[in-house]
Amino acid sequence: MRAVPISKFADVEFCGLKPVYHFLEERRPHFRPCVAIGTRQHAISAEEDAEKEYEAVSVDELLRRLQDEGSALEFPNEAVSVRFAFGGLTFSGRLDKLLKFGRSVVVCDEKFTSRAGGLFSGKYECQLSAYCNGLANGIMRVRGRELGEGVLRGFDIYYRIIERDLLGRHPLGKGEPKPFDAGFVASRLERFAGILEGRFERRELACGEPAKCLVCEFREGCEFSC
Ligand code: SF4
Repeated sequence: MRAVPISKFADVEFCGLKPVYHFLEERRPHFRPCVAIGTRQHAISAEEDAEKEYEAVSVDELLRRLQDEGSALEFPNEAVSVRFAFGGLTFSGRLDKLLKFGRSVVVCDEKFTSRAGGLFSGKYECQLSAYCNGLANGIMRVRGRELGEGVLRGFDIYYRIIERDLLGRHPLGKGEPKPFDAGFVASRLERFAGILEGRFERRELACGEPAKCLVCEFREGCEFSC
């Protein structure tokens, strides 16, 4: 089964041609300098989180606490990863942060940007929805230890995009939690799987949005860049 990083799957929401260039044609991307800055800011968040004290528990104890309706849990940054299958593909990714309150969980992800609600917000919704899908229907791991499949099935699953200033790190907006919509991610997974199977017309996949093309890592050499 072909492995697909969830962050790359989510590119389908930005422009349908990106999966073609990345997965089918293996074109070389040319990222803007702000991408490296965002990566560094993420690393700083992980370093800050590593200063916190987290209790080490066994897998059995963790499963018990997850199912305990009265418990609240915070998982360390990047400790939780998910994997699920769809259309002959295996999707996987690592969550920034997972919080649990009673029968609810919130997938949190930090995005460093120059302004809130920008061009990438659709991609971020797609990415976090896929993480939620992994928690509900896929295999969940914590620090490499597998907890099992559908561990959080039946929970109320939310995602929260926390946008922060690219340079100053201050929060941009509130980033309210949104409920996981299984139908939203299923339609994107269908579209993505169809693209990887070659069922597409290139022109129909192109986003047709000049603002997106301007910041796209594949704009050089893209015949539909506008
Ligand atoms: S340059 Fe524009 S049309 Fe081409 S892949 Fe990027 S976003 Fe899509």
